[in-house]
Amino acid sequence: MEQKFQKEKNHGVGVLTSGGDSQGMNAAVRAIVRETLRQGHRCYLIREGYTGLITGNIEQANWNHVANVTHLGGSMIGTSRCDEFRTSDGRKKAAKVMFEKRIFYLIVIGGDGSLMGAQKLKEEWGRFGEELFAEGKITEEVANEGRELHLAGIVGSIDNDCIESDKSIGSDTALHRICEAIDGLVMTAQSHQRVFVVEVMGRHCGYLALTAAIAVEADYVFYPEIPPDDNWPEQLCNLLDSVRKFGKRQNVIILGEGVTNSKGVKIGGKQVKEEIETRLQLEVRIATLGHLQRGGSPTFLDRLLGLRMGYEAVQEVLKNSEDGGSPVIGQKTISKVMCLRGHNIERIELSRVIRQSETANEETIHRNSDLACRLRGFGFLDKQTYLNFVSVPLSTVMPERSKVFAVIHIGSPCAGMNAATFSFTRMANHSRIQVLGIKNGWDGLKNGDVKLLTWENVQGWAQAGGSMLGAKRQLPSDMDKIAEGLNAHNIDGLLIIGGFMAFQSALILQNKRNDYSCLSIPIVVVPATISNNCPGTCMSLGVDTALNEICRQVDNISQNAMGCKNKVMIIETMGSRSGFLATMTALSTGSQYALIRQRKKSEKDLYQLAIETKQRLDSGNLEKFLMIRSEGASEEIPAQMVKRIFDKVMNLKYGVRITNLGYSQLGGHPSCFDRQMGIRMGVRAFEGIVNPAKMGKRDCCVIGLRGSGLRYVPVQGLENKVCFQHGIPLHMWWLDLYPLVEAMTSELTF
Ligand code: ATP
Repeated sequence: MEQKFQKEKNHGVGVLTSGGDSQGMNAAVRAIVRETLRQGHRCYLIREGYTGLITGNIEQANWNHVANVTHLGGSMIGTSRCDEFRTSDGRKKAAKVMFEKRIFYLIVIGGDGSLMGAQKLKEEWGRFGEELFAEGKITEEVANEGRELHLAGIVGSIDNDCIESDKSIGSDTALHRICEAIDGLVMTAQSHQRVFVVEVMGRHCGYLALTAAIAVEADYVFYPEIPPDDNWPEQLCNLLDSVRKFGKRQNVIILGEGVTNSKGVKIGGKQVKEEIETRLQLEVRIATLGHLQRGGSPTFLDRLLGLRMGYEAVQEVLKNSEDGGSPVIGQKTISKVMCLRGHNIERIELSRVIRQSETANEETIHRNSDLACRLRGFGFLDKQTYLNFVSVPLSTVMPERSKVFAVIHIGSPCAGMNAATFSFTRMANHSRIQVLGIKNGWDGLKNGDVKLLTWENVQGWAQAGGSMLGAKRQLPSDMDKIAEGLNAHNIDGLLIIGGFMAFQSALILQNKRNDYSCLSIPIVVVPATISNNCPGTCMSLGVDTALNEICRQVDNISQNAMGCKNKVMIIETMGSRSGFLATMTALSTGSQYALIRQRKKSEKDLYQLAIETKQRLDSGNLEKFLMIRSEGASEEIPAQMVKRIFDKVMNLKYGVRITNLGYSQLGGHPSCFDRQMGIRMGVRAFEGIVNPAKMGKRDCCVIGLRGSGLRYVPVQGLENKVCFQHGIPLHMWWLDLYPLVEAMTSELTF
């Protein structure tokens, strides 16, 4: 429990949020404040964005200023659009305030406009310092101390239009809100057989429109990077007509904010509605989601992203605070923006971030679709391709004798399994290949319990939680019968969706190929488990939905703990022997402790923790203590024993409660991330099975999410990278984040 904090040093770090608010900004502000204080520096909350910087609406922050803010939407320090800051005079006023308060380290959270403003301030900083000194407004000492402005940026924008970062803070929550709203609309649209045109945000970037369209099985999407042809009304209406013939009772059309026709005139919801009503005589309603998209509590991903980027931004600005040793051009340090690349936060040059975003926006405005889409990244291009296949009805009839691919769900049911099955089926049917769903695990294959999946009967599966086929925790045994099942249905390729057991199943089947020729078929595993313990991928399907559900429940428990005597909450999460869920929960809910198998604690450690916790509760510095315990953390110290230790120390002054979140953690409707990732993985699985050459030399692979791309990872190569006894990979990237739990919640000792 040793804590080492540095004595207060004298650097002033300011943080502001600017432009449109986005969920996750509070998690970033919290991390910035706490990490700055932890490193022994002063931290300042600059209120109302650049307006506060100009007017001096600034408050020095302490540790508790940012307590219990992670779950809140919007920006706790206020944000604004400030025209005065666009002028050099305005920026000089801001610089004067900063010199007066000796704030020479600045972290700006906002969109590309805000980052551009920060860049300009940085460029003019030296001149401002000289002028302010010459005008007698600051002393020589202060002018010297503030020779350099150390700047870092964090992209907070729901549009996700930063080219250099896989995600910007707030975009995941916005998608969440859009999907929630459309899920609701689909119910009513279905009842009345209506068409809904849903208008979503995204001035120059179609990320929200395109991703939401995939996640909600929309029929058509308009987005700015690919402006529609002049004959879009005909194309759209033909499509709607054909899906209606396939029995669809409702249609959703997503209309991105900045979409224009070939003459550059904005296409509005009203125009789309009129075209459909006139041509198809269908009832059309328009839903403009507007500011709802910015509303509500941040999702797990945005909370985590905010925390990680905030923490990293502090390391960036302060890295040369001791020795001035950061990279320099002339006399100036190079400012960086915190960008998500895969599961890493990388620091990318601010000027590059701004330049790239400007280029993408310009290419979009000038209708250079290819370049605009390429700049947005591969994930973006993939999505367009998937949408073309997944939502377009079949134009061919299935031949009498066709290839047959099978899908099976192994392990516990989780969100995203159905989405992957849905896209796999639709892709296969488009290629005139039949798909058989094997029900209830390997037993289903042995007992002939299979179902023909078709383009029509998987409709709605992307949005469905759990497993529509029935998932079973079992490995393939009695290989004669498995082979019989495969032969009986002439199965030419197999998709296994699940967690560690799905990987093990694929390995077993591959190893038996010499004994059974029917096993020499391409096999692909789509990782789906809330424990995130499937090897070969950094993230499995189901995790995101589970963590959002867990966050919601832990937020409730946390709130109630503040208002009652039961101040110590031990919350047990699933995850078998992987501590992933517990660690991520603690980080994204601001919980004080994560007890996981990979970071073992002794009884003595826990006594010490309980003693410190009681001291903090007694002092009033801590309002409640939340410990997230992974169910497989330790056989020797079960949750009841942890409770006994805390009970003994609390000595009836504070109550200790255990909550086991149980099966509710699996969540209901899949999150937007799990839906669209499930669809992407299902498509990628199909592409590998139908054309094994795509998978390289091996035709038995896991689909791995690495960075923002999907890879085929050979199952055999993973054999030596896992611990079979505990069912976990040997390397777990997320363990690097574990120390942040304590860093963000332990009290300062100076
Ligand atoms: P969002 O993505 O939500 O629109 P944004 O940061 O791009 O966020 P903007 O309105 O473009 O939002 O910018 C926010 C503020 O940043 C502006 O009100 C202004 O104070 C400052 N700013 C924007 N562009 C510039 C610029 N070119 N020069 C100086 N300051 C700027």
